[in-house]
Amino acid sequence: MRKNIVAGNWKMNKNVIEAQQLMFQLLDYKKHNATHCEVWIAPPSLYLMMAKDVFAHNEIGVFAQDISEHESGAYTGEISADMLASIHAAGAIIGHSERRLYHGETDALCNVKVKLALDKGLTPIYCNGETLEQRKAGQHLEVVKNQTEEALFTLTADEIKKVVIAYEPVWAIGTGETASPEQAQEIHAHIRNLIAGKYGQDVADEISILYGGSVKPDNAKEIFSQPDIDGGLIGGAALKVDDFAKIIEGFN
Ligand code: PGA
Repeated sequence: MRKNIVAGNWKMNKNVIEAQQLMFQLLDYKKHNATHCEVWIAPPSLYLMMAKDVFAHNEIGVFAQDISEHESGAYTGEISADMLASIHAAGAIIGHSERRLYHGETDALCNVKVKLALDKGLTPIYCNGETLEQRKAGQHLEVVKNQTEEALFTLTADEIKKVVIAYEPVWAIGTGETASPEQAQEIHAHIRNLIAGKYGQDVADEISILYGGSVKPDNAKEIFSQPDIDGGLIGGAALKVDDFAKIIEGFN
């Protein structure tokens, strides 16, 4: 059956001392607590090798927040899938709404990045989700359908099984406003049905679909209890060990 996962997206937060401190706090937490889900973090790329050293026994999966759509070459500032694979990172977040908003990333681009990640044995965490305007206009199901199909439906069944999807309604990210468990469940079931329609129910049942958008210690358990919600992609609340731990314990 599919995995339950709690993943922390640190975004552009923490200097090196703070980042190292949080990693050691998380390592200590993992050593002393039995968790009922996989725990992943996506620190800034500058700290990925440090994270690989701290979590030397893969206690926590180490992910990048993005990868380049190019394999290698003259792309100043970019990090390739191959580089990530070479440090034994677990994967990369792809298509986060902040990448879409501030860097113009499209589903077609995400499709290229997802394939590059898979080719290098990395796990893509593919993000999608509607804006507030799209939800108000009643377009959320259609928007998420298009995002899912365009970014993922050129994959083979064996490939898509390796993808983790994160549904993150843009209006809930960093705003303190969370989708209700029912709203999130509706979209998660919708995504799973789309995958079942194209690849079959067995494939759809194997794919972990995470919810992201203002997940906090006090709402995690209820969100995670929905049948098609397999965990969370956590932003702000992943920056403090106590908050992140309480979210992880939403699976206890
Ligand atoms: P948030 O961010 O938890 O701070 O809302 C979630 C995300 O952007 O992945």
